[in-house]
Amino acid sequence: MRRQFASDNYAGVCPEAWTALAEANSGHAPAYGDDEYTARASDLIREFFETDCEVFFTFSGTAANSLALASLCQSYHSILCHELAHIETDECGAPEFFSNGSKILLVPGEYGKIDLAAAELAITRRNDIHYPKPKVLSLTQPTEVGTVYRPDELAAARDFARRFGLRMHMDGARLANAIATLDLPPRRITWEAGVDVLCFGGTKLGLPVGEAVVFFNKDLAYEFDYRCKQAGQLASKMRFLAAPWIGMLRDGGAALLKHARHANACAEQLEGRLRKVPGVRVLHPREANAVFIEMPAALAAALRDRGWRFYSFIGDGGARLMCSWDTQTSDIDDFMRDLEALAAR
Ligand SMILES: *Cc1c(COP(=O)(O)O)cnc(C)c1O
Repeated sequence: MRRQFASDNYAGVCPEAWTALAEANSGHAPAYGDDEYTARASDLIREFFETDCEVFFTFSGTAANSLALASLCQSYHSILCHELAHIETDECGAPEFFSNGSKILLVPGEYGKIDLAAAELAITRRNDIHYPKPKVLSLTQPTEVGTVYRPDELAAARDFARRFGLRMHMDGARLANAIATLDLPPRRITWEAGVDVLCFGGTKLGLPVGEAVVFFNKDLAYEFDYRCKQAGQLASKMRFLAAPWIGMLRDGGAALLKHARHANACAEQLEGRLRKVPGVRVLHPREANAVFIEMPAALAAALRDRGWRFYSFIGDGGARLMCSWDTQTSDIDDFMRDLEALAAR
């Protein structure tokens, strides 16, 4: 199949992850995470964030988010997130399921970012025993519509969370793309910004499979290993979940950031060309590796007829075009050639 813009999940495994995976495939190693690869990958994550933290590996982002959130709340608590958040719209109720019923409270906000004034309303609307007690603020970085929270916005969210006694969860399925955009040390937009637990995405960045749950607040990781096991997220051959991270993070995260920068740069290029096409409108500021566009339905259908795939159910409408670590300029040329020809008909 040709390279598509439907999802960064369409891309294969990047060479660095693949090499590290192959390196781990030698001889025997202890099972269930007691191996040297898991220890090394966890250490590299600590180095990447420049702090001591507890690290766990899961198979999917849904599991990472759900189990992380479950460890932050009791069943009578609530979780505040943006109304377009993946935990609300794309996890089939797993956060509520794994937390035994913690309620998700939806907060609006421009460009996929939580509006703190609206979040305050959701919290202060009630303070009686009949309302699920707000306990977690969950941010997605970059957001579901491809925008990036800036350090000042994160600082405001941290102060807000402190003011209302909330714990902070970050869904970082594409965190590397946000780091590449902001060009800041990873610690600045995570634990220094008050994040208690981060779900650090690997799959979309070029890993074969796997996400890391990173507890900067180590107390909250208490018995998290049991949660993972009960949820079927404890890999028996853990070394193969962990090893690809080594390929991404050795050399200070060079490979991870290289691929993230590349994907962002491709999206920037794609955005620039899309803006010149009459009838096509770019939605939201393009700040990471996604471009959302609005186009006539006939044009979208004609593109699909030519074999192009893209999602139109993510965010609040429009077609999402996603660049990945292996997107090439020729892919953008191919897509734009079809789009321009069809738009001119
Ligand atoms: C892809 C994604 C996830 C993880 O999804 P899985 O399919 O469960 O791995 C989580 N959050 C966001 C914002 C995502 O885009």
